[in-house]
Amino acid sequence: MILVGDDMLRRVLFIDLSKEESWVEERDRLFETWLGGTGVATQLLLEECPSGADPLSPQAPIVLAIGPLNSLFPAITKTVAQFKSPLTGELGESYAGGRLAMAMRFAGHEAIVIKGRAQRPCYISIADESVRIRDASSIWGISAVRAGVILRDVEAGVGRRSIIRIGPAGERQVRYASVTVDTYRHFGRLGLGAVFGSKNLKALVVSGTEDVVLPEPRRYREVYNRLYRQVVRTDAMEKYHDIGTPININVLNQQQALPTRNFQSTTFDQADSISGETLADHYLFRRVSCAHCPIGCIHIAMLKTAFTPHHEFEVQKVGYDFELIYSLGTNLGISTPEGLLQLIETCERLGLDAISAGVALAWATEAQEKGLISEKDTLGIALRWDDVPGYVKALENLAATASDFYADLARGVEHAQGRYGGADFAMALGKNEVAGYHTGPASILGQTVGVRHSHLDNAGYSIDQKAAKKRMDPADMVAQIIREDDSRGVYNSLVGCLFARGVYSDSNIIDALAAVGISKTSEELASLGRSIFQEKYRFKVREGFDLSGVRFPARFFETVTPLGKLDRSALEEMLAIYRKARGWS
Ligand code: SF4
Repeated sequence: MILVGDDMLRRVLFIDLSKEESWVEERDRLFETWLGGTGVATQLLLEECPSGADPLSPQAPIVLAIGPLNSLFPAITKTVAQFKSPLTGELGESYAGGRLAMAMRFAGHEAIVIKGRAQRPCYISIADESVRIRDASSIWGISAVRAGVILRDVEAGVGRRSIIRIGPAGERQVRYASVTVDTYRHFGRLGLGAVFGSKNLKALVVSGTEDVVLPEPRRYREVYNRLYRQVVRTDAMEKYHDIGTPININVLNQQQALPTRNFQSTTFDQADSISGETLADHYLFRRVSCAHCPIGCIHIAMLKTAFTPHHEFEVQKVGYDFELIYSLGTNLGISTPEGLLQLIETCERLGLDAISAGVALAWATEAQEKGLISEKDTLGIALRWDDVPGYVKALENLAATASDFYADLARGVEHAQGRYGGADFAMALGKNEVAGYHTGPASILGQTVGVRHSHLDNAGYSIDQKAAKKRMDPADMVAQIIREDDSRGVYNSLVGCLFARGVYSDSNIIDALAAVGISKTSEELASLGRSIFQEKYRFKVREGFDLSGVRFPARFFETVTPLGKLDRSALEEMLAIYRKARGWS
């Protein structure tokens, strides 16, 4: 039985793969101070990761954490993973939905820390308080998709269960390998899959059978019902459920903000053929939801492929969203839905982060066009825009690190440009491959200064979109980036889905926390958000990140945006304003 409120036990489960040991620590104070989720995970990472540790060494930990409202309120569905990123060498942070948060909640663990390295391939099976480290030799080397199917059979049991696992890319320690969570969800960004691989850890299975006891059930029900009504009545249902995030393809294309062929253009003449509308009309099979979410934004397409040349067909179900259509679609000049879905399915099978993989292939295509790399480097593949079979083969080579060139590309475009040239069009900020928005300066600055160099840190793209409607001066843009960065520290400590963040206003968060026995004021939450941001920067700086050394690829200033062509010096000026506003100048 898990108690919530004053009597709550705030448990952290530690697992040491080298020693094959596990233990539980009760860390009430840690959770009282940092709430949960990203706030708690940051402290555990600071505690457990030795300064300067190799991200792929046994010393570097994996931290998974949920928050006090997970599985208790609608759309509070995510789990945060923190680690030292093998891609950037500093803070690694990634969020995933699915069932993991629910399984952790009902197993009674609000955080899990995994350290060490197993001697041979293994997976971890957690069932409530029991922890077993099991042999995974028979599933090492197989795809992330297939590994999930096998573990579902092998680990048949009771309770709310989640299965997370890596594919071949993680085993080969590709620096942007992902971890697949249940079905169609991922810890995608910054290389958690490589960290799993470095620990000989193929998978983690969590199942929980505990009950949750609430301090004031009546009050909880009242707040829950109110928030549920708000979630299902917001535009989130329409925006994210109907066509989903892919609706942005046509919107950004019309705004001249859709990165195309490695950001050489911001409009794509074939955009409509791979748009959200086209996929919904002709390929959408069903929508699914993370556990405890009434929105259901996960769009699954049906891809029918010829199994043999004549009449045997295979049907694959492929999850798609905006970022994937950008990175593996428009940014590679892909013109057909079948081609796009095939590339998404390839990344899913191999366990690759689709954004980084697509940006890496786009850079390689242009580098080959410009003669910086040869067909000998790519093992005979002539990389060409819209060439799906060539890209599928290149992704397989990448995941297998099949040559020196693919091994370099597997370390990210920042590393690859250092070896082969092409810095001007190597589209990374803070060493992380960029998201699909060329909307203006706030998007670039936001990804540069964000704690994980992600568009989701502070949504700079939406600040640009507002500026396209009504002029905004650089100081205002910077102020909005800072506000978003800090407030997301609180929301990500709950670990809610960002699509529902409009519902979780300060007052609703305070009410929801009170309903589970946690008392916070608006001022306390604001101060917590700022502190969490600073603590993350403490880790980043400790591991060598320096804002004064960031690189803005020239391509950002060559391609038109909705705000016109951007000026490098204006962006550098915004960075100076940002540093001053943070008190870092
Ligand atoms: S809106 Fe989508 S991603 Fe967010 S919790 Fe619901 S189903 Fe999951």
